[in-house]
Amino acid sequence: MNSRCVVTLKKGREKPILTGHPWIFSGAVQSIRGYNKAGELCSVFDSRGRFLATGYVNTSSRITVRLLAAGAAAEGVTIDGDFIRASLERALKLRESLLGSSFVRSHTSAFRLVNAEGDFLPGLIADRYGEGLVMQLLTAGMQRLKGLLVESLRTLLCPGFIYQKIDTHMAEAEGLDAAAAGTGTCLYGTLSSPVEIEEAGARFRVDVEGGQKTGFYLDQRANRGILREISAGTTLLNCFSYTGAFAVQALLGGALETQNVDLSEKALEQATRHAVLNGIDPGRFGTTKADVFEFLRRDESRYDIVVLDPPKFAASKSELPRALRGYKDINLYALKRVRAGGFLMTFSCSGLVSEDLFQKVVFGAAVDAGRSVQILRRLHADVDHPVNLAHREGQYLKGLLLRVI
Ligand code: SAH
Repeated sequence: MNSRCVVTLKKGREKPILTGHPWIFSGAVQSIRGYNKAGELCSVFDSRGRFLATGYVNTSSRITVRLLAAGAAAEGVTIDGDFIRASLERALKLRESLLGSSFVRSHTSAFRLVNAEGDFLPGLIADRYGEGLVMQLLTAGMQRLKGLLVESLRTLLCPGFIYQKIDTHMAEAEGLDAAAAGTGTCLYGTLSSPVEIEEAGARFRVDVEGGQKTGFYLDQRANRGILREISAGTTLLNCFSYTGAFAVQALLGGALETQNVDLSEKALEQATRHAVLNGIDPGRFGTTKADVFEFLRRDESRYDIVVLDPPKFAASKSELPRALRGYKDINLYALKRVRAGGFLMTFSCSGLVSEDLFQKVVFGAAVDAGRSVQILRRLHADVDHPVNLAHREGQYLKGLLLRVI
């Protein structure tokens, strides 16, 4: 055991850990001994002193401990270079089997290599974009493992660069100094951005430094594929378009015209460049810089398909009521814009909004819009975004493909 810090739980609070949940909230902790710094490794024991798990601890975070290894087998586990390397190898193997090793190894590949808790590496996001790797180290604990991560990723994938993006929201929750960290740093090699990637025959240029999150929304890959299949001969309104990936796939699938709406001018400029890069006539690729809430209220056009892919509306429980009103609002107004017999593809990426709750909100919107609606598909993040079954919170992206009568 290489961890000195010892976390002891209150009586009866070990149950979630015994069934695989990777988080320990501050309310479950009885005592912490030998704590020196945020993110250091720790051993977790139940109230009777039985070993439960190894993880890392941060007393500034609501989630006090995140687990790296649990159960009897974890007792002898050392969190070192070999542990990190084995975890990353396991994640890579999964992607190779799901996406094909030739895609994973190609110079325009784009996939999520590590999906944090879903890959049993809490706090770590790693996306591969062509020759480069972009990481988000979302917790103090993962920051401490940075050196080992870079070392393992270098030997495992031989990337041209490893770039670290900062998530200011998470940094605040962890008590990290986000301002000092800036927007990102190159941890290895030389950053070459934008990176050109391929997604089902479409080409995109990922702005690693200036883009949102790690630069591109890989989680929507499969859903963009589904949209492409139903797009022939249609008109599309792509709300919260970011760099236009849904619209590009729709046009490659035979859509006649798309309108892309986003608040970010920079994202819309990139969207137009994406259209050109894919041989799409910019005349068929409209962009509007607007707040979707306002746009949907004033727009009078009708579309065959509307996509709603908003950012996370609820980051905490207290924001939930407002978030639900927001989802109801955009779905209501979007439904009004769909031509009879058309489609609405609607998403929520708030982990706090369950699939069931999201469906209820959309139902309420359909009732108010006076539209009959059929569910055709339930949508989720693509396969390279695994979710630990014991960790509901990891299931953040949910959506519905609806036919609107
Ligand atoms: N569908 C995109 C990803 C969308 S991310 C893709 O497949 O790539 C969410 C986007 O919503 C961001 O680009 C952000 O700039 C935009 N956004 C956030 N709030 C908005 C609002 N109120 N109105 C319009 N766009 C908004």
